[in-house]
Amino acid sequence: MNDPVCLPPPHCLPASHLLAEYACAPLILALDQNGVPQRWISWQEACFYYAREMVAWDAGDNAFTLRGGISRLTGQRSAITANSIIALRGHSHGQGYNRHVPPLSNRELFHRDRHLCAYCGREFSSQRLTRDHVIPISKGGSDTWTNVVAACMPCNQKKGARLLEKAGMELLYLPYVPNRAEFLILSNRQILADQMDFLARHVPAKSRVI
Ligand SMILES: [Zn+2]
Repeated sequence: MNDPVCLPPPHCLPASHLLAEYACAPLILALDQNGVPQRWISWQEACFYYAREMVAWDAGDNAFTLRGGISRLTGQRSAITANSIIALRGHSHGQGYNRHVPPLSNRELFHRDRHLCAYCGREFSSQRLTRDHVIPISKGGSDTWTNVVAACMPCNQKKGARLLEKAGMELLYLPYVPNRAEFLILSNRQILADQMDFLARHVPAKSRVI
């Protein structure tokens, strides 16, 4: 494990200032007690779990020491060291894990599809992409991960509310449902290297996310 990485030292600030000071601190990757990735939590939430002794073990290469106020009784400054990856007691989701369907949003959809239009294959910024329903809603298609792809505006307009065959268009890649580890990668822009390594081990081989 590397040496602990202290966040910017607001050592003299009262605890109420810690929130603002650490507003952009990296998120902590929370696992269940079996080591399966579950969700991102804030360092404040991680401190809560440490204080309640609900952290079963940790697995990250980074540690963040968070300092609070000075105790009147001991004269010592309180501090909690939070690891970048922590396993929480009592959080085991067993077989239900793989049935988890993450919420669909354009941001994660465009990330899943690597910002490539599914029809022309060109790369676009999020602002120039649309959510295309492969089977249009008007034709009974659903607004779900397996029926949506990223499409540039011209391709989306060209296809219109038609089926692929009618529009004479083809998909360059197939839509799929990201598993939880993929969704965790998609939903956080500040993933630490150790967290990414851990999540990558839970991503299926067909993934386009990494
Ligand atoms: Zn296109």
